[in-house]
Amino acid sequence: MKIIMLGAPGAGKGTQAKQIAEKYSIPHISTGDIFRANIRNNTELGKKAKEFMDQGLLVPDELTCDLVMDRIAEDDCKNGFVLDGFPRTIPQAEALDAALAKTGQKMEYAIDVDVADENIVNRMGGRRACLNCGATYHIVTIPTKQEGICDKCGNPVVLRDDDKPETVQKRLTVYHEQTQPLIEYYKKQGILKSVDGSQPMEKVFSDIVASLA
Ligand code: AMP
Repeated sequence: MKIIMLGAPGAGKGTQAKQIAEKYSIPHISTGDIFRANIRNNTELGKKAKEFMDQGLLVPDELTCDLVMDRIAEDDCKNGFVLDGFPRTIPQAEALDAALAKTGQKMEYAIDVDVADENIVNRMGGRRACLNCGATYHIVTIPTKQEGICDKCGNPVVLRDDDKPETVQKRLTVYHEQTQPLIEYYKKQGILKSVDGSQPMEKVFSDIVASLA
């Protein structure tokens, strides 16, 4: 099962992607997580990516595409994968299609988790992330067991720089300009599924599962 998650930043696609990965036993591949791991490890890629991420901008395609193509060529992706945060531009989608076509494969589902902009801004302010292990929470919908402390590794959870209100506004503009056209791109391919992301998380998930049937 080869799945792409679409949706504005903060629409909840990451949370849903993790659950899909678990239910269907396929890897969850998040480009945002890969960049953040590189930032933590102070790699060259991490240093370059951070410059763009901190401004709410997209990391250039040339730094992004190859790393995804390498990742989906790994053994554990044989039965499929769920891509979270990639593609985010039409050239990225075209690069993905071209890479899969080389081995006679194609994407099967593009799931758009649809949430209105005004809800996004409210949600993002409540997001908290562990900069050590990458786990994400929300102060209202997915709180940590102990306030401010990551359930998984015990480190502090914080509001990520790119989740701060001024950056969120920029990310939404970037989303509408560069990523939203992918909805039409996958609609034309006949693989788009839209779910209402403003519903409770469990309902969003059951709608996604129903759309994959
Ligand atoms: P995310 O965790 O998916 O919201 O990603 C956080 C940030 O990483 C984004 O705001 C971008 O700066 C960068 N990023 C993640 N995925 C991509 C991508 N496919 N193309 C370009 N930049 C990306």
